[in-house]
Amino acid sequence: MSTQESIADNLQCVRSRIHEAALACGRDPASISLLAVSKMHPVAAIEAAFRAGQRHFGESYAQEAVEKVAELKALDGVIWHFIGPLQSNKTRPVAEHFDWVHSVDRLKIAQRLSDQRPAGLPPLNICLQVNIDHEGSKSGVAPEELAALAEAVNQLPQLCLRGLMCIPDPTRGDEALRQSFAAMQKLFETLRTHYPDLDTLSMGMSDDLDLAIAQGATIVRVGTAIFGQRNGTSAPL
Ligand SMILES: *Cc1c(COP(=O)(O)O)cnc(C)c1O
Repeated sequence: MSTQESIADNLQCVRSRIHEAALACGRDPASISLLAVSKMHPVAAIEAAFRAGQRHFGESYAQEAVEKVAELKALDGVIWHFIGPLQSNKTRPVAEHFDWVHSVDRLKIAQRLSDQRPAGLPPLNICLQVNIDHEGSKSGVAPEELAALAEAVNQLPQLCLRGLMCIPDPTRGDEALRQSFAAMQKLFETLRTHYPDLDTLSMGMSDDLDLAIAQGATIVRVGTAIFGQRNGTSAPL
């Protein structure tokens, strides 16, 4: 099978999974967006997904991401999401070339993104990444510090705070994952009592998107199930 066909088939499969997971918990499937995570896959894979109707793409590494965005300028209507850890010396290209950043976990990064967002562009959409399992080594704001960060980020002029994102520890089994997603849903609902315009809960990946949807995910970020395995340095196509 050609790359085009297999990516189109995989996308169809993932869309059905989203559809079924939504119906299984009484949600409208249209309330969930699919973000295709194309990190470490070549631009040809992104083009194949685009031809199969996909519009939202996620990248994790600033350098790679910015190169791909530049190469794919001609693809009209692509929405680019930055989802990886962001160092302060890499904020400028992300502020200039992306539509969303899901991985903001400290004020310094948010301030730089706001300052560096070009005036002619709409505000950059922001999700705050939460370290929901209190993992020592992981990115993300501690749940206890979320309210303060949200308040500060919400005041930055060139950002639009949209919601929350998490990457729970995948090694502890389904019940622990479900609890982490449920804890995120609760944080999100609490935050929404202060900021009713928040509309985005970014959680769930190839292996756990069904669990995340049952706990209210509005964006699922899916790489492997669409593009296949990533293999370190070189891309699989
Ligand atoms: C790579 C990545 C994904 C996609 O993971 P898969 O298991 O390949 O679906 C989702 N979110 C983030 C933040 C990632 O870095």
